[in-house]
Amino acid sequence: MKTEQIIQTVNKFYMPVFNRHQISFSHGKGCKLYADGKEYLDFAAGIAVNCLGYGDSELTKAIAEQASKLIHISSYFYTDVLAEYVSNFLENSDFEKIFLCNSGSEANEGAIKLVRKYYYNLGIKKPIILTALNSFHGRTLATTAATGQTKYSEPYAPLPEGFKHIPYNDITAFMNAIDKNTGAVMLEIIQGEGGIIQASSEYIEKIAEICKQNKIFLIIDEVQTGMGRTGKMFGYQHYNFVPDIITLAKGIAGGVPMGAFVARGDIANAFKSGDHGNTFGGNPLACSAGIVVLNRLKNGLLEHVQETGEYFLDQLKSLKKYSFVKDIRGKGLLIGLELEESVKSKDIIDKMQDNCYIIIGCGKNALRFCPPLIITKAEIDLMINQLDKVFSLIK
Ligand SMILES: *Cc1c(COP(=O)(O)O)cnc(C)c1O
Repeated sequence: MKTEQIIQTVNKFYMPVFNRHQISFSHGKGCKLYADGKEYLDFAAGIAVNCLGYGDSELTKAIAEQASKLIHISSYFYTDVLAEYVSNFLENSDFEKIFLCNSGSEANEGAIKLVRKYYYNLGIKKPIILTALNSFHGRTLATTAATGQTKYSEPYAPLPEGFKHIPYNDITAFMNAIDKNTGAVMLEIIQGEGGIIQASSEYIEKIAEICKQNKIFLIIDEVQTGMGRTGKMFGYQHYNFVPDIITLAKGIAGGVPMGAFVARGDIANAFKSGDHGNTFGGNPLACSAGIVVLNRLKNGLLEHVQETGEYFLDQLKSLKKYSFVKDIRGKGLLIGLELEESVKSKDIIDKMQDNCYIIIGCGKNALRFCPPLIITKAEIDLMINQLDKVFSLIK
């Protein structure tokens, strides 16, 4: 099918919720993507998903071999890859139990259910989960209710109850919001969709301390920041605290749909047989991919992210010479460049795309860089040179 026809066909039959760019990719290799004979350099990674880039030989081999053996078997049975994955995952971690699902929204739903079940078992009423304004936690009903942006939730009332939103990085607001009804706090360590806004260490460490004192659970939504994206396995590891529950998805299986929530044992044991479940979670195909991603992160990839992330941020700061560049911030390979209102992020994204660089937006008017974790300094240089050119043409 020709690109024009592909676009028309998808637009005709697919529900009209996505604003897709007029490109149809056929394949990729490393950090490069191919469409209509053009080669693009990818700084989006399928929204912080494709951590090993495209066509990774180890990942594709593992998936292909597993697919030929067993793609799915249901959670009525055990598999060797499930055993290998969950033991690898939890070894040397701050947590004792994991549950596998298929997306970030589902991971957050699961964490919310776990907290509610914990209090239910005790016969305690602590129904409120605090979340931050400008956060993003997913697209299911409960996670849109949790998300602190009404544009995602307003049309879908009635929503599940029990969420209260507080301003991010505002410890006074948090202190004022907690009371005997507060069961948990759910926060991103860096608000990703919200514009790459980092929790300050004073803020998050204070919250962790208060939560501990008041027996409030601290859930960190690491769907975007987890699995090496920030240069550590999990974003919270840049700080001096340990959450009670974390949620994961996006890069966890290198592009194969997978999500997870991970908790301390005493919390996780609130779930009894039949309390939660799913059909696809922990399937052998996803586990085989997850094993490869974990091994790569533990064997050098994390260090690579730290090094290239620092380099990226440093180099990008050269663009501060443009007065419309308001701020540059991030951690590891999750970086945002905020623009003054006069320059629209969408126009920059389109112009970069015309020059065969894929970047995405976030927040109100920011560019987001979340390339495959295997990106090289040379590739970063190429992109920044192009961005410099695009910026230099703005009047
Ligand atoms: C992307 C994202 C989600 C939602 O994940 P889905 O896989 O799209 O359901 C939740 N939380 C955060 C922080 C995210 O970045």
